[in-house]
Amino acid sequence: MRPYNFSAGPAVMPDEVLRQAAADMLDWHGSGMGVMEMSHRGKEFGQIYAEAQADLRELLAVPANFQLLFMQGGGLAENAIVPLNLSRGETADFVVTGSWSQKSYAEAAKYCSAHLAASTKADGHTTLIDPASWQLSRKPAYVHICSNETINGVEYQELPDLKALGCDAPLVIDFSSHVASRPVDWSRVGLAFGGAQKNLGPAGLTLVAVRDDLLDLALAICPSAFNYKTVADNQSMYNTPPTYSIYIAGLVFKWLKAQGGIAAVEARNIAKASLLYQAIDSSSLYVNRVAKNCRSRMNVPFYLRDEGLNEAFLAGAREHNLLQLKGHKSVGGMRASIYNAMSLDGVQALVTYMRDFEVQRG
Ligand SMILES: *Cc1c(COP(=O)(O)O)cnc(C)c1O
Repeated sequence: MRPYNFSAGPAVMPDEVLRQAAADMLDWHGSGMGVMEMSHRGKEFGQIYAEAQADLRELLAVPANFQLLFMQGGGLAENAIVPLNLSRGETADFVVTGSWSQKSYAEAAKYCSAHLAASTKADGHTTLIDPASWQLSRKPAYVHICSNETINGVEYQELPDLKALGCDAPLVIDFSSHVASRPVDWSRVGLAFGGAQKNLGPAGLTLVAVRDDLLDLALAICPSAFNYKTVADNQSMYNTPPTYSIYIAGLVFKWLKAQGGIAAVEARNIAKASLLYQAIDSSSLYVNRVAKNCRSRMNVPFYLRDEGLNEAFLAGAREHNLLQLKGHKSVGGMRASIYNAMSLDGVQALVTYMRDFEVQRG
């Protein structure tokens, strides 16, 4: 059995997917070609692409008036690509709830006037602010949130309803680290983006789901390869797409369907997260500082009250086949990322190790 891997990303993949990829490596479906060796315009890759699109659309229940774009550049590139496409050079609003929305806010300021509508910096990004208290600008081109803050471990349990706030701007969500872990309320979203390497597949693929009416608003300086309309008109093949990453993500989509789809996966994610948070909350060694109503189901940061034990904790974890638990360098401590491909058994093994460590060293 492989060790349990709690990496924040690139992250653990389902064994079944890796085995299938290994079996297909030299010869995909009798084509005589590995997927890496195929033209993106050939019929073989055309089938891989079409199935990945259809499976993802079905899994996430994406409405017909949204395009699914398979782009490159990751979440950080989208921090520039979104304002290039949606801001019209005007004002866009940002709600900063952690490291990733902070980066989005700073990057967008290069292309538009970026307005800070709310920030949880004062409490160390451990809460969410009620949208009714956001200071939205008068007519923002869009409103940006990070729906799951991967580093801070803060997740919106419900997406804000901008219309109910009297704002008809599109909501942009960075859902990199919890896409496909729970359903998306598309009625509240104009555009969603995410790098694949947390919960969908390998690095290199960036998913953008964009509503049709937002496709054709790009600034003249927007690079053609990053213009959503150009990408959509060319079925994500204006330039060569990340073909191998799309293929692997497609295998992950089939795996998710075999798991029972997003509702079944969400139920497992709830069980995994409550097991881990309960273990943290009931211990006197470990602590998670995020308010209970906005704790992430995917990324669980925690601290040892005696930080002098950090190295011993990590070394012992490695001995118990529990990998990549070190927290992000900007916040320290530990972090367990428990994405879709992490099993309940894996979380159980972590919790057992944490209890044993506390008894012996805490
Ligand atoms: C990982 C991550 C990113 C950055 O993705 P890159 O692919 O490294 O650009 C952006 N936003 C969130 C929420 C992330 O978790």
